[in-house]
Amino acid sequence: MINLKKLRLTALIILLLSLLALALPMLAGRIYKKLDIFSDSKNSDITLFLHEKGEKLELSFNEYLLGVLLAQIDGDHHRETLRAAVVASRSALLYMKGACRQLCKADADYCNCESSFRYMGREAYEKDNGDSLSSKLFELIRESDGEILLYRDSYALALMHRSSYITTESSYEVYKRSYPYLEPVITAENPEIKEFFILESEILQKLGKYIGERYGAGIPLSPSLKLGRTGRVDSVNLCMCDIPASEFTEIFGIPSRSFEIKEAYGGLVVTSYGVGDGVGMSLMGADKMCSDGFSYKDVLLYYFKGCKIISEN
Ligand SMILES: [Zn+2]
Repeated sequence: MINLKKLRLTALIILLLSLLALALPMLAGRIYKKLDIFSDSKNSDITLFLHEKGEKLELSFNEYLLGVLLAQIDGDHHRETLRAAVVASRSALLYMKGACRQLCKADADYCNCESSFRYMGREAYEKDNGDSLSSKLFELIRESDGEILLYRDSYALALMHRSSYITTESSYEVYKRSYPYLEPVITAENPEIKEFFILESEILQKLGKYIGERYGAGIPLSPSLKLGRTGRVDSVNLCMCDIPASEFTEIFGIPSRSFEIKEAYGGLVVTSYGVGDGVGMSLMGADKMCSDGFSYKDVLLYYFKGCKIISEN
């Protein structure tokens, strides 16, 4: 005769075990099946916390490096520029390892929030097998394995951006932290010029908390700018009221803080120069140097003054 009690108990145990089996991977974080092509990195494995998914990945350092590079680089660049970008980002990632545990309390070596680096996941290069940028970058990651930028024997936080206008920017202006190797240098690329027309109604709608009452009381927009020491805009003055440039550029999608502003019939015309925050190496500036015959090493030592390049291998 079947022991009904025993059967129920067994079923209960099986149910509990299968629930546990389901829950365990969630608790431990999702573990990527590691791709063999990335496995020779000497910096081995890292953990990455993805805020929007609440997910922790375990992947090889080189795979993470590729994902960070893909999130920062678009368009065509000189091969030497890309090599400089690989070495710079490798050093910056090593500098930042573990920092998010303090900055945003993520329980991982890295995360993808504002206090860390943007990351483009595996789908970015897996889907697109013939994609020349990811394969070029991957080849360069292999070729330059172990090559890093040091400042006084520590990894350098070698940041980069797309393009600047005349000079790069000091890290203090953007991040309120000074690094001797993230100070402005002259950069020779053609600035990427973009023009925006912003309607008066849009300005009122989006900047109402600053200028609403004044505008209503008949004070004209009369735009003017306050500039910082590298010529980038610190604040925009509208209706005799200061608006931080960082907020202004974010609200209206202006790609850099190098811009001019003019009053036009029915609104404002903003002309911007360059793309990105201007800190560290300019990719377009590096392209200009490389097409003039300079090497990736020249480029790195130019943009990151006082640093040296070594090979950890
Ligand atoms: Zn974070």
